[in-house]
Amino acid sequence: MNDTGSLTRHYSLRRDEPLWAALPGGGITTSRKIASKTYDVVIVGAGISGALTAHALVGHGLKVLVVDRRRPVRGSSLASTAMIQHEIDVPLHVLQNSVGSHRARRIWQRSAGAVEQLAQMIVDLRVKCAFDRKRTLYLSGDEYGARALKAEVDARADAGIDAELLSGARLRAHFGIDRTAAIDSGISASANPAQLTAGLFRHAREHGTEIVSGVEISDIQALGERVAISTSRGALLSAGHVVFCTGYEFLQCLAHKSQKVMSTWAIASRPNLERPTWLDQYLVWEGSDPYLYFRSTPDGRVIVGGEDEDGEEAYRDEAKRQRKSKRLVEKLADLTGIAVGQPDFQWSAPFAVTPQGLPMIGHAPGMKNVYVTMGFGGNGITFSQIAAQLISSEILGHHDADWDLFPIE
Ligand SMILES: Cc1cc2nc3c(=O)[nH]c(=O)nc-3n(C[C@H](O)[C@H](O)[C@H](O)COP(=O)(O)OP(=O)(O)OC[C@H]3O[C@@H](n4cnc5c(N)ncnc54)[C@H](O)[C@@H]3O)c2cc1C
Repeated sequence: MNDTGSLTRHYSLRRDEPLWAALPGGGITTSRKIASKTYDVVIVGAGISGALTAHALVGHGLKVLVVDRRRPVRGSSLASTAMIQHEIDVPLHVLQNSVGSHRARRIWQRSAGAVEQLAQMIVDLRVKCAFDRKRTLYLSGDEYGARALKAEVDARADAGIDAELLSGARLRAHFGIDRTAAIDSGISASANPAQLTAGLFRHAREHGTEIVSGVEISDIQALGERVAISTSRGALLSAGHVVFCTGYEFLQCLAHKSQKVMSTWAIASRPNLERPTWLDQYLVWEGSDPYLYFRSTPDGRVIVGGEDEDGEEAYRDEAKRQRKSKRLVEKLADLTGIAVGQPDFQWSAPFAVTPQGLPMIGHAPGMKNVYVTMGFGGNGITFSQIAAQLISSEILGHHDADWDLFPIE
């Protein structure tokens, strides 16, 4: 599956079709031929991170090409359950211990800012993507219990990030969930990730961005201030800047960095499923390993995900997918009483995580004008927005004070 001879890794990126593949509006037509030989910026990858980077470069008079070896939005972005959260996998009070209070706060604040920017952008551009503002309910679990959640609320208060601790009694009374505690917080949203990505690309294309699919970038070489790019079809291009938005198919030369590829599973119920009314306002996840997460959609489906396990092959196992789907249905029923029955959609996919739950955003080693964003874990949409902001600022020559926040290490 991993072709070590190629520039970026190869995965099938998902098994079976997620819900979004069955809904309209999640694709865009593209050219299959690159129109020119020289560009200011070439973005490799037409998923959510490529779309947000293209959007961030619109309006600056740059000649921008987005190129993907697949059709647009056919990578991990189609597999996403699209919980758009500022809460990152490693709690703030834990992250502070490993990266220091100042940096940990900047990371969490930047993440909260990214969700607000995304929300504003979707409204401004009128992207039709089932976008809903949500609150988040973070439940205590076997990894983070009530005491840890209390420490987390205190750490977030110190960082100026809204969060309220709910006792077990309040959680039972308001949500009917039996856990020792939870954190109720704002600054979240949900969307249809395919419609969101395609909508951003449509907007960028209307503003001059060229989008080409079915072409693989097979080699790059820094040549002074420019970058020479080879494609799988034998074309040679020259760009001022190249941005690798290739998600979990990261550059082979970065395979030794501190990320590991895992497998994850998700299901979506039938529409109009019976569910508690509060669920339509909340994203839910828990402080357990592996954690369960779930949310509803505007047409009343419940999307459930989790059961993550080490190993970049596990997601391909059909029998395992059946078992994991069943387990997700059972876990949701045990926690909430929601009866999914037979899911309409079941899918599985690889994803890459770093030890601290942080993405890596920066220059490709030794290549000044080549940028990389990767290691998104389960927060790909929020981290993609941060990456788009940081990388576009570098390209445009507006240095961002947070540029060093997510080093490639
Ligand atoms: C099951 C699942 C659930 C998830 N849930 C959430 C969630 O709830 N919230 C959230 O924020 N995130 C979630 N994520 C994470 C999120 O989906 C990803 O982090 C995000 O979609 C990555 O987007 P991307 O654009 O970087 O990558 P992709 O969408 O994979 O796009 C990268 C593209 O690069 C192309 N490419 C690679 N190499 C080359 C090359 N050499 N030449 C040309 N093209 C190339 C690929 O073909 C691909 O289309 C989830 C992920 C999974 C798997």
